[in-house]
Amino acid sequence: MSMLIKNKLIEDFISVCRRMYEKGFVSATDGNVSVRLETGTFLTTRTGVNKGIVSAEDIIEVNRQGEVVSGSYAPSTELAMHLFIYLQRPDVKAVVHAHPPYATGFATARQPLTGCVFPEVIVGLGAIPLAEYATPSTLEVVKAIEPFVKQANAILLANHGVVTYGSDLYDAYYKMEKVEHAAHITFVARMLGGENLLSQQDVEKLKSISKDFSDRLACETSDTCKQSGTPGQTENSEDDLKTYIKKYYL
Ligand SMILES: [Zn+2]
Repeated sequence: MSMLIKNKLIEDFISVCRRMYEKGFVSATDGNVSVRLETGTFLTTRTGVNKGIVSAEDIIEVNRQGEVVSGSYAPSTELAMHLFIYLQRPDVKAVVHAHPPYATGFATARQPLTGCVFPEVIVGLGAIPLAEYATPSTLEVVKAIEPFVKQANAILLANHGVVTYGSDLYDAYYKMEKVEHAAHITFVARMLGGENLLSQQDVEKLKSISKDFSDRLACETSDTCKQSGTPGQTENSEDDLKTYIKKYYL
């Protein structure tokens, strides 16, 4: 990969980290970002750095086993979650993890954002499911997100935060903004008596005018409330998953 492309990626990387901090999506040294390189390795944030002051030295390169191949710091403690998403989703080029207050509030109240409420979210993101609580920075997180990774593009992590992923750094980051915005507006709507879900017919209309609308995790409409927006089948038992993860990461 050319130095020019890599330098542009590092520039975008720093910009996304700073936006996350400026938006209040992370505090202190929370959160982490990664991007897949053409070479099959990944750039990721080092552990213990404030995202508002990230510089090029804080970005390290790791291989798919999570080993540092370039840089002098240890990678983020949530690296396994990032690598698992890349492994499950060959289309994903960047992953962003943060603790934005409204979305994390919903994750803490254990309320997923799976209703068909906002046209932009239905088209651009699909349902935002809730993964079970898992101790941060352990492989439990990988197990918790597994049922959703292939279908969803954003997942709430119970009592923890949010992970979003997309076709490049900005796509992944903008999904984080969208999740937080949707959570904020939903919160306001609930103060005013509760959000109204769109109907199946409304969603069909959206589908017909959007080229982008693919096989996302379906949101619940006013007709199908509590029936759709369910996770994909868990494909592996806990032991299978541990073996699978060890094969790739340990
Ligand atoms: Zn976190």
